[in-house]
Amino acid sequence: MNTKQKRTLVRIVVAIVLFVGVYATTELLPLNTLVSEPNTIYLEFVLFLIPYILAGYDVLWRAVRNIGHGQVFDENFLMSIATVGAFALVLFPDTDPHFAEGAAVMLFYQVGELFQDYAVDRSRKSIAEMMDIAPDYANIMKDGALVKVDPYDVAVGDEIVVQPGERIPLDGIVLEGTSQLDTAALTGESVPRHVDSGSEVISGCVNLTGVLTINVTKPFGESTVSRILELVENASEKKARTENFITRFARYYTPVVVGVALLLALVPPLLFAQSWSDWVQRGLIFLVVSCPCALVISVPLSFFGGIGGASRLGILVKGSNYLETLAHSETVVFDKTGTLTDGTFNVVAVHPEADVDPDWLLSVAAHAEAYSNHPIALSIKEAYSGTIDQKRIQQVEETGGHGVRALLDERVVLVGNDKLMSEGGISYHDCDLTGTILHVSLDGVYSGHIVIADVVKEDAAAAIADLHAAGVKKTVMLTGDRQEVAAAVAHKLGIDEFRAQLLPQDKVEEVEKLLSTTSEKGKLAFVGDGINDAPVLTRADIGIAMGAMGSDAAIEAADIVLMDDKPSNIAKAIRIARKTMSIVHQNIVFALVIKFAVLILAAVGLANMWMAVFADVGVAILAILNAMRCMNVKQFRD
Ligand code: ADP
Ligand code: MG
Repeated sequence: MNTKQKRTLVRIVVAIVLFVGVYATTELLPLNTLVSEPNTIYLEFVLFLIPYILAGYDVLWRAVRNIGHGQVFDENFLMSIATVGAFALVLFPDTDPHFAEGAAVMLFYQVGELFQDYAVDRSRKSIAEMMDIAPDYANIMKDGALVKVDPYDVAVGDEIVVQPGERIPLDGIVLEGTSQLDTAALTGESVPRHVDSGSEVISGCVNLTGVLTINVTKPFGESTVSRILELVENASEKKARTENFITRFARYYTPVVVGVALLLALVPPLLFAQSWSDWVQRGLIFLVVSCPCALVISVPLSFFGGIGGASRLGILVKGSNYLETLAHSETVVFDKTGTLTDGTFNVVAVHPEADVDPDWLLSVAAHAEAYSNHPIALSIKEAYSGTIDQKRIQQVEETGGHGVRALLDERVVLVGNDKLMSEGGISYHDCDLTGTILHVSLDGVYSGHIVIADVVKEDAAAAIADLHAAGVKKTVMLTGDRQEVAAAVAHKLGIDEFRAQLLPQDKVEEVEKLLSTTSEKGKLAFVGDGINDAPVLTRADIGIAMGAMGSDAAIEAADIVLMDDKPSNIAKAIRIARKTMSIVHQNIVFALVIKFAVLILAAVGLANMWMAVFADVGVAILAILNAMRCMNVKQFRD
């Protein structure tokens, strides 16, 4: 609790003590022994006014001030009118007085406000603490001694030293040292990650065991921590439809209820000669109930909590609207390579044509792929045992979804799939092994092929099953790979549908087709690893990028970013989104049902002020407590 809240608490407690004192006095001590009969009511009025003013002077003041600003229907106004109204019944001395209720409404309202304030503060703080991954300093070696500098002042290419227990301040590559890194704050993964020289490390992780010397590869502003913090901070700007609905609803609901309250208080006494005090009181109850704060506070708080909770598991959601869309996802579309599979291929077989040496075939392929970063190229280079002589390569050209064309020892080499061969007018032949086939040709003559296979990720099958269990109706895999490979992977993982041999631009078209077949309310999510997937990530209802620790394009294009490259996080994200939405809906239904029930009871004269206070403050407190459950994601941890 901050000092302002503490001061308010003291004030409310004093007011409550006074209130109880006054209440007991009026109940136990017949006031007519003190003052003569018609004046007791005025004495009561004055006595209850003391705790009332003490507890609520700020509310009254804000109400007056806001009317001056043209904000008429805010909660301060409603509470002021309702409670002043209760006291104003003193003007009808022949009726039962309601000063106790008037003072009590204000007291409860203030208790509720204080609680709300505290709860919102607490969840903000707990999320801020959780996101407390920003490093304060970086250590730089200067004249043989370590100096602490601001991470902003470290340049790309500088060497920094990170000691055990310190947070890695900037993204980089380990030059020296071995250690274990705690990545939990970023990925939710509790098992430490081993790093040694050559490993890429990202800012925000905690160095656990050894001293590391790191070569900085990104300035602080572009390092992982800065990007994550920026992302989470901006998340609340993108409001969910439900949030906007509540704001709009409150805008109409409050004036309507106030209008009805007025009619209720004026019409029966004026037109039907009913008792003023009875109907004025019904109107006042309306006013108390009309405050929509239970919704206006708890709905954004739920989204805030859901986004914060998800980020604890390494799932970064860029806005409440995406959380809402994700909860409605019906179709989940995956990219294959790098998303469902590791992206590292093993060479399964080398099938040279007659008179071609298998080692030579592999060496030609490795040289042609020398400059490519495609997972296939990396794996071929890995499988090739010799060294690559860059002087032999004169020219290379890579075509997405096809392969590479290179000038090697002044001869034209093609390495790629059947599309590439057909375009080059080369007669090739198929292979009966299942796997990705890499055809190789030399000066227009077919030299043979290399069969490679990528390994599906450990948790991929479980992830697909989990998605189905979470209520996703259809899973689809899109790939540029061969029909046979796609079929085998889809079957192995239990994916409902697949489309193979797609060029990067075809994937957008396929997603568009799938979008037209999903139902009105159902949404389509696309999951990719970010390498040449940006257009599809943008086109889908919701784009999810995974393994985003490295890929900048993915972080930009995606709506949801999974720090880890584990497909199982997708189902977790969906479950968190569903839980958040269900809490939001629970709160909306609960608040409205109670409020409408009390409104109806009040209209027919069956509700009293105490019920009205519950319908306002009680409901708000319960809704906030419920909303705070969104932050809790323990149940989703492995
Ligand atoms: P995916 O859709 O599974 O992520 P890509 O679209 O990246 O796959 O590639 C599709 C196909 O294009 C690959 O299966 C391969 O046959 C061919 N290909 C792409 N790049 C290369 C390359 N550098 N070398 C050889 N073949 C390649
Ligand atoms: Mg890919």
